[in-house]
Amino acid sequence: MEKLVYQFGSGKKEGNSKMKDLLGGKGANLAEISSFGIDVPPGFTITTEVCKSYYMDEKTLSDELVIQVEEALHVIEEELGREFGSFENPLLVSVRSGARVSMPGMMDTILNLGLNDETVIGLANASNNPRFAYDSYRRFIQMYASVVLKLDHYIFEEIIEWKKQDLSIKEDTELSLIALQDLIIEFKEKIKSETGNDFPQSPKAQLWSAIKAVFDSWMSNRAITYRKLNNIPEDLGTAVNIQSMVFGNTGYNSATGVVFTRNPTNGVKQIYGEYLINAQGEDVVAGLRTPQNISIQGKNDSGSSLPAMEEVMPELYKELLDVCNRLEAHYRDVQDIEFTIEDGKLWLLQTRSGKRTARAAIKIAVDLVHEGLISKEEAIERVDVNSIDKLLHPTIDENASYKVITQGLPASPGAATGKVVFSSDNAERLAKSMKVILVRLETSPEDIHGMHAAEGILTSRGGMTSHAAVVARGMGKPCVCGAQDLVVNYSKNYFTTNGVTVNEGDIITINGSTGEIILGEVKMIQPEFFEEFNRMIEWANDVRRLKVRTNAETKQDSMVARKFGAEGIGLCRTEHMFFDADRINSMREMIIANNIDQRKTALNKLLPMQIKDFVDIFKVMHDLPVTIRFLDPPLHEFLPSNEQDIRDLAIAMDISVDQVKNRALQLKEHNPMLGHRGCRLGITYPEIYEMQARAVFEAMIIAEKEKSASAIAEIMIPLVFDIREFKMMKDIVDSVAKQVMEKHQMKLDYMVGTMIELPRAALKANEIASQAEFFSFGTNDLTQTTLGVSRDDAAIFLNEYKEKGIIKTDPFASIDQEGVGELLKIATKRGKETNPNLKIGICGEHGGDPESIKFFHSLGFDYISCSPYRVPVAIIAAAKAALSK
Ligand code: PEP
Ligand code: MG
Repeated sequence: MEKLVYQFGSGKKEGNSKMKDLLGGKGANLAEISSFGIDVPPGFTITTEVCKSYYMDEKTLSDELVIQVEEALHVIEEELGREFGSFENPLLVSVRSGARVSMPGMMDTILNLGLNDETVIGLANASNNPRFAYDSYRRFIQMYASVVLKLDHYIFEEIIEWKKQDLSIKEDTELSLIALQDLIIEFKEKIKSETGNDFPQSPKAQLWSAIKAVFDSWMSNRAITYRKLNNIPEDLGTAVNIQSMVFGNTGYNSATGVVFTRNPTNGVKQIYGEYLINAQGEDVVAGLRTPQNISIQGKNDSGSSLPAMEEVMPELYKELLDVCNRLEAHYRDVQDIEFTIEDGKLWLLQTRSGKRTARAAIKIAVDLVHEGLISKEEAIERVDVNSIDKLLHPTIDENASYKVITQGLPASPGAATGKVVFSSDNAERLAKSMKVILVRLETSPEDIHGMHAAEGILTSRGGMTSHAAVVARGMGKPCVCGAQDLVVNYSKNYFTTNGVTVNEGDIITINGSTGEIILGEVKMIQPEFFEEFNRMIEWANDVRRLKVRTNAETKQDSMVARKFGAEGIGLCRTEHMFFDADRINSMREMIIANNIDQRKTALNKLLPMQIKDFVDIFKVMHDLPVTIRFLDPPLHEFLPSNEQDIRDLAIAMDISVDQVKNRALQLKEHNPMLGHRGCRLGITYPEIYEMQARAVFEAMIIAEKEKSASAIAEIMIPLVFDIREFKMMKDIVDSVAKQVMEKHQMKLDYMVGTMIELPRAALKANEIASQAEFFSFGTNDLTQTTLGVSRDDAAIFLNEYKEKGIIKTDPFASIDQEGVGELLKIATKRGKETNPNLKIGICGEHGGDPESIKFFHSLGFDYISCSPYRVPVAIIAAAKAALSK
């Protein structure tokens, strides 16, 4: 008989943390920790296999499952001496989802299940606490109505609000027994009027409906969106955990909370979390009451006036601290723990690896190495490369002056500016054309698409472990939570705070590192690296084999890249050096030139600019290689298109406007990407590449003479498909080099190589490598030409290709390993056959993509080259590639 149910927390312990596929993260961890003596309320897990069968069998559950669940329930009843559905001492359970990968808040949970009009009396008598019993019952009805009956949560919140207004009270905890009993009657009436059915009184019926609801929530829209955003496979399925209830709401000696074993925002080794006295777990997560800090340190840091658990329950605090230390040592990672204190006894409800900011992740991994818990290699393997980008977010310039209109909690670091929107749908719609900040009372999993689209998130309610805070941190988005002075008016689309009114569309800046809300835009600065980050980069440098270079053509970019650890320039696109308004005319003159004299005049203007730029770059990159690619301008990017540009050009060239227009018309191409660009320009106008070669060598001489730099130039010829093209261009370079060396009586070291960015070049690599000293794969063009998909227009249809399952990822973002990758393999193999010393690199956008980097590592490339801000990502990705088996 297939085992469908696994017991935990009781005398019978059947799972462990290696069984996450079958039991989900929560179930597997609960089984594991209960077996080493941490108090976990007894329960059992229905496996993820059952979820898969549920969907295969048209949403039905097997008789065998019913038998196994009954048996497991019986084990708990025996253990606790309570009976499910008993009028005297009823067993209540929670029913919770738990997939292999944690999906916080994405699926459903029901607490206090098993209560009805009669068992509530049993609970009241057994606990000698009627208020607690009825409070639990009204909570159960609310959750059940929302999760199983799909009624809007707010219907019930509204009824509670009215009741509190009637009674002139503020807090839910002030509701009397009578008030709670009234509420229950009103809730049940509401359910009857909304659904036409009575609230179900049979605990067994409640249980099975709840189990199904949890399975159903696996396919809820929000869960599907979350999986898409986080690349979680659809077919994992969720487990269901049914666990005996312990109660944090039995009085003032009870509490519930969430604790991280280290600070998840900055990684500091201090337990960090929030709790609420006399409450159930949902109250903390939903942000309906203001939670209190666990530690005095946390209380001081957040400026809270409410007492910390360390002060109110010092013994339990110590016990919690001890549990945190044990769990962290056991799992060798930060844990995010849910606990409940019932009448002075600590119970653990969940432990999982804690989500953390990118910054905290690096600090924690480095600290764990120093503490001897993990190795350097494990630390590198644990870094989520994609999150490193988040460390590079801009922050607000301290010297900028700005107006803070209110303050909330610093929930997720980084600063963001944008136009205020009040709904997630609006955020998603408007974010296509502008930057938006999503402002909400609080967020819920339904807001996931809006949060994803927004630059940052601001809420007026909720604490540091509220939905908005946790999700934003995971997304790496700046977030300010619980800005209590903010009065949000959804119906009229504005908020007010401290006398300021901000309408939808107004610009604000939020600072997720300090909690400040600022009117208007503020000057931002780029982030500095912190010590642990540098350490991680050092360790990555020790293990990686791939060199990491950068694509840069300005002194500024070169400096940034070098600071980030770039080991040279892998691509200097010389045409980009002429994008500036004061230079583009000279470039246009050269392109528009009708004859060699006109062209030479233009080239003479370009030469000194090129020399100066190259000297600047050589100085920044001294002693490191600089790959200079000769001009490769798709002509349409440079032809003058408006009247003003045409007039300016006519004056500069001393020709008529009509002459410029006619020449531009002559040069216009139907398909510029496949047109007169790359080395084709050098073939037809050799004087262009001659000027560029001269500029490189003269710049090398200047750099050498100034002793400020020992330049290592690698000259790269673009868009070659045949050895003859390459040879002609190489001859020009060599002959200019000879002239310059003779003129200055100095010897210069340089290399001449080519880009491989056309399929024919890849196929003819053996011939090309007989003359080329290096290959650099231009995977942007190689993808474009191999797939026959225009790199400029692909966005229009590629999404649909993804949706229809033809491609998994955008081939311009992550290399198409099967197709383009095959050409890379062929070219590498053939190239090395004729030239074993051939140096091989890649400079297309894929050079910064972690998945592609892994592939390039496997092909034995020498280096990758990417944009300056991607350099740290590439360094870590290269190290991870070297470590992966
Ligand atoms: C390429 O084609 O991959 C490349 C790096 O060159 P560009 O993007 O300038 O065409
Ligand atoms: Mg190219």
